[in-house]
Amino acid sequence: MEVTFLGTGTSQGIPIIGSNHPVCLSNDPKDKRLRVSIMVRWDAYTYIVDCGPDFRQQMLNQQVSEINGVLFTHEHADHTMGLDDIRPFFFRQGDIPIYAHKRVLKALKKRFDYIFASENKYPGAPSVIENEITSQPFTLGTLDIIPINAMHNRLQVFGFRFDQFAYLTDVKTITSEEIEKLRGVKVLVVNALRIEPHHSHFNLEEALEFIALIKPEKAYLTHISHMLGFHKEVQAQLPEGVYLAYDNLKITL
Ligand SMILES: [Zn+2]
Repeated sequence: MEVTFLGTGTSQGIPIIGSNHPVCLSNDPKDKRLRVSIMVRWDAYTYIVDCGPDFRQQMLNQQVSEINGVLFTHEHADHTMGLDDIRPFFFRQGDIPIYAHKRVLKALKKRFDYIFASENKYPGAPSVIENEITSQPFTLGTLDIIPINAMHNRLQVFGFRFDQFAYLTDVKTITSEEIEKLRGVKVLVVNALRIEPHHSHFNLEEALEFIALIKPEKAYLTHISHMLGFHKEVQAQLPEGVYLAYDNLKITL
């Protein structure tokens, strides 16, 4: 299995438009972060988790020519606003499968009504195949995916376990029952927004506590704000086996 970090930034990305913050002005490519998303590949399958406003650029960066589907963690704009850009895949492959909570599918239908239209559909609009995710495992290609329920303040979000790999973003709290579903993962990705606490995201301290509970072989931090600091400086202070993810990083399991 190969996991590619397509984007590792928080909702505004880094740099933020018009910002003079030193991290936003950094020339280190690892300090430039598109909106959060990963691509997971195994056997002949390619799935994308979240499809934010940078989706087009991310597909170009990685030269992706075919996808098997898009999974959504939740409906916030930084995770969904690139859905229109599935068009090139739709034109080549036909309807693109999407996987999301019922509530998220409803939100997507409201925002992208033309994608879901069944009558007088605009000829250039893409079409999707809706797959509702519940708390039950579901199959993608040759793999059973385990959804992990977590809370983003008061909003439910899904994390996903792909065999030995698990991806969670926009988490603030998670029950011990859901944590049990993560036992034995080799590689864990989790959000760490910044040093200061935040009402709907783990800060660095909370993310490290969570990682210490799960004890994966390796953990990667994502959904990063410019306020966390320079990649180089933050990485130097992380415990062994914990890494700050950066855009275009690939890991193999
Ligand atoms: Zn987000």
